[in-house]
Amino acid sequence: MQIVIVGAGPTGLYLATTLARRGHRVAVIDRDPGPPRSGPWRRRGVMQFEHAHTFRGPVVDLLRKDMPELLDRLLATGASIPVTPDSRPAALLCRRSTFETTMRAVAAGRPGVDVVTGHVDRTVHDGARVRGVYVDRRRVTADLVLDASGRASRFSAEIRPRAIGEPCGVAYVTRQYRLRPGTDDPPTNSPIGLSLSFARYFAVAFLHDAGTFSITIAHDGRDPRVRDLRHAHVFDSVVRRIPRLRQWIDVAVSEPTTPVLPGGRLHNGYRGQCDQRGALATPGMISVGDAVCTTTPLAGRGVTLALAQASRLTAIIDDHGADVDSAAREFDAWCASAIRPWFDDHRHADADRLRRWAGGDVDLTRTLPSDLIVAAGAVDDRVRRGAEPYARMDALPDTLAAVEPLARGVYASGWRPAAAEGPVDLGEVCDASAAA
Ligand SMILES: Cc1cc2nc3c(=O)[nH]c(=O)nc-3n(C[C@H](O)[C@H](O)[C@H](O)COP(=O)(O)OP(=O)(O)OC[C@H]3O[C@@H](n4cnc5c(N)ncnc54)[C@H](O)[C@@H]3O)c2cc1C
Repeated sequence: MQIVIVGAGPTGLYLATTLARRGHRVAVIDRDPGPPRSGPWRRRGVMQFEHAHTFRGPVVDLLRKDMPELLDRLLATGASIPVTPDSRPAALLCRRSTFETTMRAVAAGRPGVDVVTGHVDRTVHDGARVRGVYVDRRRVTADLVLDASGRASRFSAEIRPRAIGEPCGVAYVTRQYRLRPGTDDPPTNSPIGLSLSFARYFAVAFLHDAGTFSITIAHDGRDPRVRDLRHAHVFDSVVRRIPRLRQWIDVAVSEPTTPVLPGGRLHNGYRGQCDQRGALATPGMISVGDAVCTTTPLAGRGVTLALAQASRLTAIIDDHGADVDSAAREFDAWCASAIRPWFDDHRHADADRLRRWAGGDVDLTRTLPSDLIVAAGAVDDRVRRGAEPYARMDALPDTLAAVEPLARGVYASGWRPAAAEGPVDLGEVCDASAAA
């Protein structure tokens, strides 16, 4: 088939590679021209491009299966794969910019893939059926259009079903640093780096490739004083007041490589392929990746869910051949059972976290959210073992139901996860730092 993919992000590039390998002719179209010959890639239209990313273990599994050459090249440029005690990949430690630059080069080098720069304005129609897209007003026809245009694209907003979901109530600020040559990683507490949970916010040092790392502070965005975190001197001063993070930004250990990057509006959203009557909303076009499901970045699941969809969609297109409508229906049903549960899980966990950040206690009158069940694994080994497949994204959130009563017992006994050592009131510290 002649396939047009809108969006050359991780989803679009993965699909371009897998579909071209199966003999399809693929044009993957993105408004961003790609990395320049020299200098940094200032990626347009993807706010999170320079924000801290960590790639969960299943991303490594998916790349090994479908893009092994990408994994080899990432490892050669300094990415690394920490492993679990049973030797499975726990994560891929790599900047998003390194990941995408390399992925784009690998996809573009594959015969059958044409990476095109242009803005997709809208779809080409034959009645209700999508027959292609207009790229900068030029008509490009196709047997199948794949919408891999991300979480906020507008090119098909009028014809796609409306997404369900809401803002997740989390604001992000990130800064990237580079370790000075010869310096070891400062102490970590997880495969991704150092993750610290406070009563009203998170602070995380994410390890990346080639001696780089990011520090991210995530909070509920309600206190206007905390907006000052976007100023480097305020950000660094807050980080210095968190004892376990202080040494990460010691001038003898590292130097910043970016300004402080504030995040945009974050939300949990889900959009299937069908309208309210259950009919395909855009026959001839299938949405995939963040265009179907976007989740709070706090758990770092976005690229795993996006590539899992891309992998599954490739297999479904293989099975259905030119019958793209039955492929769309099967993909929609698969997403409803394998992707939507993650969205529901985030909605529950995020809403409850906001309630707790606002001072609420663990609510034992309702099903515990997943983050609290996982946290209870620190004191009950049966909970830890039962929650492990979920935590690694090998099993769906409903598998936590088996250990939820045990976790509930932990909280009923009065145990609560201890807050890390550091400022309690971020607003107060930001205020004092801004005035200094
Ligand atoms: C702050 C933040 C931090 C995150 N951290 C993590 C993390 O740690 N781990 C993780 O796994 N996930 C993380 N995510 C989620 C992850 O970034 C997304 O899941 C991922 O980008 C989805 O890939 P995609 O290819 O579906 O969409 P995108 O990456 O958004 O790519 C879509 C592409 O489509 C192009 N496009 C859109 N409209 C048009 C048009 N009309 N014409 C032409 N081109 C168009 C865009 O330019 C873009 O290149 C984070 C997200 C945010 C916001």
